[in-house]
Formats: sequence, structure tokens, C-alpha cells
Amino acid sequence: MKAVQIESAGGEELISCNPADGSEVGRVKIFQPAEVREAVERSREVFHLWKTTTFADRKRLIMAARDVILSDIDGIARLISAESGKPVAEAISMEIAPVLDLMQWIARGAEKMLRPRRVNIGLYRLLGRSSKIVYHPLGVIGIIPAWNYPFSIPLGEAAMALMAGNTVVIKPSELTPLIGLKIGEIFERAANLSLPDSPTNFSLSPLVQIVTGAADTGAALVDAAPDKIMFTGSVATGKKIAAAAAKNLTPTVLELGGKDPMIVFDDANLELAAGAAVWGAFCNAGQSCSSVERLYVQEGAAEKLTRLIVEKTKKLKIGPGDQEDVSIGAMSSERQVKTVEDHVEDFRASGAKIETGGSRSPQCRSPHVSKGLTLNSDTETLFFEPTVITGATNEMRAMQEETFGPTLPIATFRTEEEAIKLANNSEFGLTASVWTSDRARGRRVAKQIEAGSVCINEVLYTHGIGQTPWGGFKSSGRGRTHGLEGLMELVQPQHIHTNHIAILPDAWWMPYSPTAIQTFRGFATKFASGSIMKTARLLPQLSRRIRELLKKQ
Ligand code: NAD
Repeated sequence: MKAVQIESAGGEELISCNPADGSEVGRVKIFQPAEVREAVERSREVFHLWKTTTFADRKRLIMAARDVILSDIDGIARLISAESGKPVAEAISMEIAPVLDLMQWIARGAEKMLRPRRVNIGLYRLLGRSSKIVYHPLGVIGIIPAWNYPFSIPLGEAAMALMAGNTVVIKPSELTPLIGLKIGEIFERAANLSLPDSPTNFSLSPLVQIVTGAADTGAALVDAAPDKIMFTGSVATGKKIAAAAAKNLTPTVLELGGKDPMIVFDDANLELAAGAAVWGAFCNAGQSCSSVERLYVQEGAAEKLTRLIVEKTKKLKIGPGDQEDVSIGAMSSERQVKTVEDHVEDFRASGAKIETGGSRSPQCRSPHVSKGLTLNSDTETLFFEPTVITGATNEMRAMQEETFGPTLPIATFRTEEEAIKLANNSEFGLTASVWTSDRARGRRVAKQIEAGSVCINEVLYTHGIGQTPWGGFKSSGRGRTHGLEGLMELVQPQHIHTNHIAILPDAWWMPYSPTAIQTFRGFATKFASGSIMKTARLLPQLSRRIRELLKKQ
């Protein structure tokens, strides 16, 4: 494991280590259940103040948080790289830049998206009624993220939650706790900068609290009954969290795993598709939920596409993420590398061919391993070569289970129907991509793929478009983050209904009578048809019924 749990004088601690060399990045305390409960209670107290703030106040906070990040982009990128292993280049391009964009979008747009909304209530309007929806924040949002995008995912979710008027408690991954603490620090500094005259000191009563620890601390956060859990992680943990949250009827958004297919037709731009496949499969050392984990290429293009992919893959430099020309950083943990080794072995044993890569990268032996600080004694390195595999088929176990590592298995297909069938033959449904120069075919195929996001001639990056909803079909998740749909997960709608001519009783009130039943039949056959002409014929009956009710008052 990369993170180590120890007992120290001050209580239990987590040591966070750099997966590139095993060196210690820092230590954090492990929050105990009672402390997590206190954090949630404190957060609920702050919520009652925060929910009364204006959208302008909230916008100032989020824009100030952006400024704090902008003032230290390189420092934050180095920390992300040191804790997660990813290249600094990806810390900036895939975490910092997209979350800054999401923050400005939600800061500027939340007020409009959450504006009270009039609902068209059809023929009820003829009765002098109107309906409006107003949006209320939920309360305390508990965020439990994974380690693979440790900055952008929890920070983006927190920014959206705060703009909706909620407060936040984050339990960062045990592999990346210092980045979690950095997020807390960013919001604290932003509160000082943006709300100095506020009657509540939001830096002393933090809007975003961080409770560091491992699975037990996460479970304690769920048990503390926040008003919603936003979880990102594996299917297995997602099921545990959903079950535990159900005890308190706590709603959850679950962002889970993927086994995302890329379909390449023989009319696609193969040079571009090869570049996309390499980036889509190997960025973040393949540890993206939306990584390309299955490539299906039409038979006629298979040879050329494979050659281009292998050529491009062989040029990638593997190494510590803080070197600027490195494309493939260390993987996050020994557990993760072991899964990759298991899947590569499964491909080999089932008859697929390893075209390049296939093992741990020998040139990156960790100098700290011998000290036994973080890595198992049999482990030499957490770097794994980007691996291209041909001759894969859906029957192989490694084509069904999530790998979450730098492997790109390639399978072939003949027809459009076959490609769709192969892509959908999975328990997962997070993202997919279709590559073709025929746009009509691209749209036709995209609509038939069972996945929350499907790109045509693009790959993987749409989590970076904060304006669009993110979430999975099938075992890849429940609910959405990002976009209007994600914002709606963070509020509760309230329906306010008004009778503007409240001078007569409603025809459906008591007492009932034969006239009442006659009128209700009319409601069913005429009013409920939605036709104004039919409803007009109900008026004499309706007025008889109202007169009856008035007499009986
Ligand atoms: P994980 O499920 O092991 O852990 C995720 C988080 O849950 C961690 O913070 C962990 O401490 C916490 N946790 C573990 N057990 C818990 C419990 N019983 N109660 C409460 N919290 C608990 O996942 P991981 O290894 O950190 O992340 C990898 C997975 O995340 C992959 O499957 C990947 O596809 C998925 N992921 C999905 C998305 C998405 O948007 N769909 C994004 C990123 C990662």
C-alpha cells in the first residue's frame, strides 16, 4: 500500500507517501467517529447561517477560492503530483484548469439556474391557480472522493454545493489526504478574503471541513447522517455506502467504475483516433474512471490503427511526475498495480498478444523501498509500462472487470450492429466514444450505447466540461454531478401552489353526493383530457356542484 497507518503520540496517523519513490509527503491525523459526528454537527450549525446568504456572497467566495488557487498553481500541481503520482502536466490540464472553469461557471450561473420557476399546470390555470418551484439547499453535503482526481472532483462538488447554499464535509482518500487538506485551506483563505465583513466568521466556522482518514472515517461520515453523500469510488464501496446511508434515508450520488469502450470505424481519421486512444488509455496511468479500457476497431482498419498506437505508445516517457517531459507517472498503490498485472496475465493466458509493455517499468526502482517505508518488500516499483494488447475478446475476464491501469486491449468487429453489441456487453456504462467520418452514423451509434456520456470523435475529457452532467448507466453509478442535473442533486425543490380566486369551495371538497360523483366523472372524462373544448362542456355541471356545496355550508 502507498499510505501507511501508524499509532503516534498524538493518536492514530496516516503517512502519505509519493508513489514515485515511496518518500513521505506528509502526515495527517485519523478522525475518529465522534470527531466526524462533531464536524457534521458543526457544519449543520454553519449551514443555518450560510443558507441565508445571497448568491452574490456565495459567488464572491467561489471567485476568491479561484484566486487562491491561481496564486499557487504550481505548488498545488506539485502536491497533486507528489501524492497521486500523476505528471504535473496532467495535474494542471486535467485537474486545476477544469475545476477553475467549473468554479467560474457555477459562481456566475447558479443564481439563474436556481431561480424560482413557474410551472405550466394546464387547465388548472382556468380555476385561477398557479404553481411555482423554489429550490432549497439540502444542508450538509458529505463528499467521499477517490484518489485518482483528488483535487478537481471534491473541489468541484464542494463549489457546486456551496453555491446552492449547503455546507460541506469532505473525507479525502487515504492515498491523497494532503490534497484534501489543501482544499479546506483554499476555502478558509477564500472566506477571509471575500467575506471579511460578514457577521459570521466563516473562516472560524468553516464552510468546508476536512476529516482525514481511511474507510472507517468514511463510514463514520455516512453514519453521521449528512443530508446527502456524494461518493466517488469503486462499485463495491458504493454498494456499502448506499446500504449504510439507507439506514438514515440519506440520499446518495454514486460515481462508480467504468470499462469504457472506444469504437473506431474504418472511415475514421486513424491518425487522430490512435492519438486519442493512447491519451484515453494512458493518461493518469490509466487510472481514470472514463479511461479507454476496450478498443473495438473495424477489421479493415485494425492493422493500421494498431501500428499507429504501438508507435505512439513506445515514444512515451515513464518517470516521476515532477519531470516535465514525463507522460506516464507512477500508479497510485501496490493494490492497483497488482490488478493490472493480474489482467495482463489473464490476457496472455487467454491467447491475446502483448504488442508493447506488459510489466512494471524496471528503470524506476524506488530508492525508499529498501527502507521498507511504504512498499511491500517484494515490490520494486509502482511504475507500469503502457501496454497495448491485440486479439482481445469480450469473453476474457480482463475485458469485463475494471482494470484502472495503463492497458489498452484491442478487439475487432465487422458491422455497426456488432460494434454496438460488443460495447454494451458490460456491467458498466460510464462513457464511450465513437470514431467515424460519417456524422449520421456517429449519432446513430452514440444513441444506442448504454453510457452516461458518449463522445463522437472525442475521448474521455468531458468530465472537464463542468456545464454538462456527469454520471453512469448500469453499475457505473446513480445520480449526476456537474451541469444543471448535478446542481439539482444539491437542492430540494419546493412546490408553492396558489389559488388566486379563493372565494368559492373546490368542487371536490366534502360532503359528497350524487351530484359530486357526476361532476367527478366529468373531471375524469373531460377535464383530464386536457382539452379546453371538452372542459368547457363541464361548466354547467361544475356550477351545479358548487351551488350544492354553498347551500350545505
Ligand atoms: P474506493 O471505493 O476504494 O474508495 C473511495 C473512497 O471511499 C475513499 O475515500 C475511501 O476511503 C472511502 N471508503 C472506503 N470504504 C468505505 C466505507 N465502507 N464507507 C465510507 N467510505 C469508504 O475507490 P478508490 O480505489 O479510491 O477509487 C477507484 C474507483 O473510483 C474506480 O473504480 C474508479 O472507476 C472510480 N471512480 C469513479 C469516478 C466517476 O466519476 N464515476 C471518478 C473517479 C474514480
